[in-house]
Amino acid sequence: MALTGLQIYKLLPQTNCKECGFPTCLAFAMKLAAKQAELKACPYVSEESKRQLEAAAQPPVRLITIATGERKAVAGNEIVLFRHEKTFYNPVPIFVRVKDTDADLAAKVKELDAFSVDYVGMKLRLNGVAIENASGDANKFATAVETVRSVSDFPLILIAKDPAAFEAAMAKANGAIPLLYAADASNWQAMAELAKKFKTPLAVKADGLDALANLTEQIKGAGVEDLVLDPGARDFLGTLTLATQIRRLAIRKNFRPLGYPIITFPGEGVQSPDEEPVLAAQHIGKYAGFIVLDHFTPARAYALLVLRQNIYTDPQKPIQVQPGLYEINSPKPESPVLVTTNFSITYFSVSNEVEGAGLPAWLLVADAEGMSVLTAWAAGKFDADRIAKAVKTANVEAKVSRKRLVLPGAVSVLLGEVEESLPGWQVDVGPREAVDIPAYLKVKP
Ligand code: SF4
Repeated sequence: MALTGLQIYKLLPQTNCKECGFPTCLAFAMKLAAKQAELKACPYVSEESKRQLEAAAQPPVRLITIATGERKAVAGNEIVLFRHEKTFYNPVPIFVRVKDTDADLAAKVKELDAFSVDYVGMKLRLNGVAIENASGDANKFATAVETVRSVSDFPLILIAKDPAAFEAAMAKANGAIPLLYAADASNWQAMAELAKKFKTPLAVKADGLDALANLTEQIKGAGVEDLVLDPGARDFLGTLTLATQIRRLAIRKNFRPLGYPIITFPGEGVQSPDEEPVLAAQHIGKYAGFIVLDHFTPARAYALLVLRQNIYTDPQKPIQVQPGLYEINSPKPESPVLVTTNFSITYFSVSNEVEGAGLPAWLLVADAEGMSVLTAWAAGKFDADRIAKAVKTANVEAKVSRKRLVLPGAVSVLLGEVEESLPGWQVDVGPREAVDIPAYLKVKP
């Protein structure tokens, strides 16, 4: 059971020395109770208190790692129900199911592994494959695992009913630490032995939360701590209800038997493949730990990877690019200098338009604390002083022969001040929208 702030306070040194970054031990205790601080921030906790407090400071959803060499798929360690309360930490690893009956297994896995999406300067990728023993034959399963391992370092989920099939497959896993799916009421002792033997995480499947919690307690009692939950439901309402209950129990009540990531199979809960990404999107928001897709297409995967990126971006820290002077299409000294802010989406909107049009330009990115043009201007983070500072810090004058700056149209109001701050520069106002920049540059190169 989680400790309250006052219970935690009684275990702290109570000297109010502030070294933890909080003004008092009580303030620190309250943050610990809310899972918004880490115990190691206080250097003076006694060993006995530490033992008691560490249990309370444990993240309510256990961190689970599936690994193949350096490549890892990680879920858990979440501490809030809603992203705006703080942030979500580990973006849901997305797997695609393949089968040991697939004729073109190697080619399929290579295609999945090569798939990547360029999104505001990041490469978004799938996280692994789930290999299913659809044949029911342990040798075929082992051969499929060997084939996949020979063409990819994807993290793996192994899906089978027979413990002997896992035993055969693990012999060909070549050092990978897959998730074994799944232990249920009928086989959990054998599956727990396998998970202990191969030091793998283990998925646990039961229908309903009572049965699931009983089973995780039994398996934990048998010595396996790294568990993943499958509460049985597959449809929209069922998965939403159970996943929400599990997350609430884990985070609000610190209910340890359900304090593990959830695995979902959205392809099993829909009528047509086109509905799969809709259900998967629901699972990304609430509250999958691992997702296994059945119907991969680049378009569906693109949408899910971008959605996941947005949900798992810290809302307090916008995605930013480094301020500075960027070159687009090998600019010459007489090329124009376009000004924008360091919010990634703003930066990429502008640079993609100019690059796509094949126009050479300098792009001066001012430090606006990661905000978009209008937001930054309204917050006082994008003004004449900052623009002038960016021109000087990036030493723009040394690179251009024509001192001409183009401001974003949305901040035309800054024109006079920028002219005053940068004597000798010609300052123009460009279009409001990035999409209109190529046409503008063609008229006013
Ligand atoms: S560092 Fe420890 S002793 Fe000092 S104020 Fe924080 S909790 Fe109290």
